Amino acid sequence: MNSHCAWIGLGSNLDDPRRHVELALEELDRLPLTRRLGASHCYVSRPHGPRDQPDFINAVALLQTRLSPLALLDQLQALEQRHRRVRARRWGPRTLDLDLLLFDDSVMSLPRLSVPHPELTHRAFVVMPLLELAPALSLPDGSRLAELAQTLETDGLAALLPTI
Ligand code: AMP
Repeated sequence: MNSHCAWIGLGSNLDDPRRHVELALEELDRLPLTRRLGASHCYVSRPHGPRDQPDFINAVALLQTRLSPLALLDQLQALEQRHRRVRARRWGPRTLDLDLLLFDDSVMSLPRLSVPHPELTHRAFVVMPLLELAPALSLPDGSRLAELAQTLETDGLAALLPTI
């Protein structure tokens, strides 16, 4: 079975969100056939969409995995469920959101899974932590993340100091 690089976006804005994100970073390292190679700092970002909700904590992790993209998505969704994800409305508050951002240089559009994640290039709270981990990263279409970052509105995004 081949080994792949998968980039995961994490977000939370409910019930001690930083704890959810930091716990999930540990849990990603324990997924089957998977280990975590890196994690960004945690970032605080203003809510996307409805503003009448708490700020988000975001981070990005790099995984090495022998899971297929869909098997990895299954694991991410099971992890979200274990954090008892509450999701009453689109872009509303949630205890844990996990997105598969990139999977090697794969491009796929399946009913359950689009890779690269369709919103990746529009979200500073994803692009900035990705850049922190991999300043030279390019997307499958060859565009450089660092150039893309210059076009994004960062809107109060800030990296947090590590808690440990
Ligand atoms: P959201 O909660 O807004 O992140 O959306 C979750 C839904 O998006 C799930 O039904 C997934 O099957 C679907 N989805 C499609 N592409 C992705 C991806 N790259 N990462 C995570 N979920 C995805």
